[in-house]
Amino acid sequence: MQTSKMLEFSDDKPLFPISTAAKLLDISVHTLRMYEREGLFIPFKKKSSQRLFSKSDIERIECIRKAIKESKISINGIRAIYSLIPCWEIKHCAKKSRDKCPAYWEHTQPCWSYKHEGNDCENQKCRECNVYNDYTDCGKIKNLIKTLSGK
Ligand code: SF4
Repeated sequence: MQTSKMLEFSDDKPLFPISTAAKLLDISVHTLRMYEREGLFIPFKKKSSQRLFSKSDIERIECIRKAIKESKISINGIRAIYSLIPCWEIKHCAKKSRDKCPAYWEHTQPCWSYKHEGNDCENQKCRECNVYNDYTDCGKIKNLIKTLSGK
């Protein structure tokens, strides 16, 4: 793992351009862009549209890579796992908002992939949301489900 190169930086500060992020992750820029298109992560975007990555972003993508390479989970599988995060419970969405929210009804993509105008989280930036930030790997999602089910 190459994150030790970055230990001196604060975790959430967007620092690395996409080429550096790709190098740190040992993948191509093309692959990184594809993960973004698939909604697996949300990069920080400068006004110029240049993407920057933080140490947390790199760790998140490392986790995605591990799921793909070691656990043989497909990208669609990862999206489906993310879609199971019960964001409406975590954010305490009102029933009225939840009932018209695709993230509540669908199970193919993460909530942050949907437009959420008119919902309770309409003014929340997904990249800064605890739903996006706190459940980056399958173990954390499973622990969340255990907590919610009281077991
Ligand atoms: S703000 Fe974004 S990440 Fe948070 S619950 Fe809403 S859609 Fe999901």
